[in-house]
Amino acid sequence: MTELAKIPLAGVIGHPIAHSRSPALHGFWLCRYGVKGHYIPMDVAPADLETTLRHLPKIGFVGLNVTLPHKEAILKIADVITDRAALIGAANTLIFRKDGKIHADNTDGAGFVANLRQNAPHWAPSAGPAAVFGAGGAARAVAAALIEIGVPKIRISNRSRPRAEALRADFGAKLVVYDWVQAANMLEGVTTVINTTSLGMAGKPEFRVPLDALEPGAVVNDLVYNPLKTAFLAEAEQRGATIVDGLGMLLHQAAPGFERWFGPAPAVDEATRQAVLSA
Ligand code: NDP
Repeated sequence: MTELAKIPLAGVIGHPIAHSRSPALHGFWLCRYGVKGHYIPMDVAPADLETTLRHLPKIGFVGLNVTLPHKEAILKIADVITDRAALIGAANTLIFRKDGKIHADNTDGAGFVANLRQNAPHWAPSAGPAAVFGAGGAARAVAAALIEIGVPKIRISNRSRPRAEALRADFGAKLVVYDWVQAANMLEGVTTVINTTSLGMAGKPEFRVPLDALEPGAVVNDLVYNPLKTAFLAEAEQRGATIVDGLGMLLHQAAPGFERWFGPAPAVDEATRQAVLSA
C-alpha cells in the first residue's frame, strides 16, 4: 500500500489535448528507465484550470506540462514563477512542491538551444545576427534564449507588427523589428534563422519567404515538426544552409520536467525521436 502511494504521477494539460506527443515521449522514457510512474494527457477547459491544479497534487501528481491555451493563464495561478517564465510570459512545466506551492518554469528556450546544439554542432550563436519569423509565444521563448546565449542582434518580423513591437519593448534594443512585407530583408548576413510561425504545419499554408539573401553557412530551424522537413527547410537546405527540424525542441524541452518528476535525466537520441514519431 505504501509502495503504491509513492508512484509519481505527471501529465500534460491542454484544451484540446488529443494531438499531444508528450504522453508518447514520457511513456517511452518511463519504460526505458524502468520508472514506476505514469504520465497522463488531460483535457482541461480554461474555467476548470485552477480547481484542477489545486486538486492534482492531492491525488499524487508531482508536476505537469502545460500546453495551449493555458501557458499564459498558468502564471496567474502559480505561486512561484522562474525569471525566464516571467520574461517569456508563459510556462510549460509545473512542479507541485511539497509545501503545496505550484512552481512554474518555461523550458521551451532551453529546448530550442539544446536542439540546435545537438543537430548543428558547429552552430556559433554569437557569430552573427539571428532572424526570427513570428512573434507568438514560441518566438518569445526563442528570443529570450538567443539573448541569453549571446546572439548580438535579433531581427524579427511578424504578420501583426504590434506583436513584434511588444517583444522589442519587453526584450530591449537587441531586437530590430522588420515589416512583414520586407521580412526577407532580415536574412542578409544572418547566421541563425528560425521560423516560429505556425505556417508550414500540416493543414496550414506553407511558410514562403524568398531565401535569395540566405547565407549558405546559416543554421536554419523550423519550430514546426509536423511535417519534419517543411518546404521552408527543404529550400534552405538546397541553398546550402544547415537545417534543423522542430522535433528536437519538443524532446529537449520535456527533459527537465521528466528529471524533476521521475528522477533520471533522460537522453534525447534517435530512439527517442522514433518513439515519438511512431506513436
Ligand atoms: P502563437 O499562436 O502564439 O503564434 C503563432 C505565430 O504564427 C504568430 O507569429 C502568428 O502571427 C503566426 N501566424 C499564424 N498564421 C499566420 C499566417 N497565416 N501568416 C503569417 N503568420 C501567421 O503560437 P506559438 O508561438 O505557440 O507556436 C508557433 C509554432 O511553433 C506552432 O507551429 C507550434 O506548433 C510551434 N512550436 C513548436 C515547439 C517545439 O517544441 N518544436 C514549441 C512551441 C511551439 P500573428 O501574430 O500575426 O497572428
